[in-house]
Amino acid sequence: MSYAYDDQNIFAKILRGEIPNNTVLETEHALAFHDIQPQAPVHILVIPKGPYVCYDHFALEASDEEIIGFTRAVGEVCKIAGVQAGEIGDGFRLISNSGENGVQEVPHLHVHVLGGRRLGRMLQ
Ligand code: 5GP
Repeated sequence: MSYAYDDQNIFAKILRGEIPNNTVLETEHALAFHDIQPQAPVHILVIPKGPYVCYDHFALEASDEEIIGFTRAVGEVCKIAGVQAGEIGDGFRLISNSGENGVQEVPHLHVHVLGGRRLGRMLQ
């Protein structure tokens, strides 16, 4: 499996400030912003700042500090979005599509945080 990173992908451009985004949270290790085509009342993407293609690339090659920083950012986003404490409906879904079979569109690791309504069954 190749983890070659394409620094021209759209999220790399967002990280460099070349494309605007609607930021929810920015930390040392992560950026979270609203998805441009939301699939639920809350649909936020959380990305690590490092050049990681997909989840396994990140989990296997990132430093512990990056992994903890990113994981905490996902938790913070759930809190900020109100999906964690039941303010706008109890519960949420995290998705990270990876590669061809996972139907990953953008080759920079991202976790989708979806909530704000009762979601349908997801496995298809
Ligand atoms: P994937 O299919 O790779 O898991 O999801 C990529 C997500 O990125 C999609 O939900 C898509 O709507 C979102 N997206 C693609 N381009 C942009 C963009 O330029 N800005 C934002 N905010 N979201 C984007």
